[in-house]
Amino acid sequence: MQTSLSPPVIAYIGLGSNLVDPIVQIKSARIAVAAIEGVQEMTFSSLYHSLPMGPQDQPDYVNAVMGVVTKLLPMDLLRNLQHIENIQGRIRTGERWGARTLDLDILTYGDQEIDEPDLIVPHKGIEERSFVLCPLFQIAPELYVPNKGFIVDLIAKCPLSGLKRIN
Ligand code: ATP
Ligand code: MG
Ligand code: MG
Repeated sequence: MQTSLSPPVIAYIGLGSNLVDPIVQIKSARIAVAAIEGVQEMTFSSLYHSLPMGPQDQPDYVNAVMGVVTKLLPMDLLRNLQHIENIQGRIRTGERWGARTLDLDILTYGDQEIDEPDLIVPHKGIEERSFVLCPLFQIAPELYVPNKGFIVDLIAKCPLSGLKRIN
């Protein structure tokens, strides 16, 4: 994949899966993300078990958050993550928040705020999602989420919604 390089930036990536052995999906995705050229793994959270958002007739999820240092521009990072989703069998049915083998979302990218048709950073759902905030707090307790606040304050306002730490 052709990519452009930027100065190194710390980014956080949310991982989620609820199909075809979710724990294995998340572990495979971790290896695949760390193998992207221009991406280096920095931290990886515990795995968490969460209840589905949206359609309830789907299995529960496994989630985690990964911290990376990357030289990829945000859009190049997104394209690489989508490529990994596809390789791990993600089928886009068009149903919002439907079941999937793998979801890789960019949660934050340095202190940047991005508002493009294909990429909104910080991720727009971050404040309402305990399955993102809890693993993010675990690996980056002092993080300031641009335009939203310190992770510790965001987490205090967000219901746990059945989230459980697995390991
Ligand atoms: P949600 O974004 O609410 O978690 P989702 O992850 O299920 O939902 P996807 O089907 O994975 O949504 O992605 C839909 C579109 O979201 C993608 O085509 C992508 O261009 C766009 N998108 C916007 N901002 C981001 C981001 N920060 N990370 C990943 N995808 C994003
Ligand atoms: Mg998502
Ligand atoms: Mg997504």
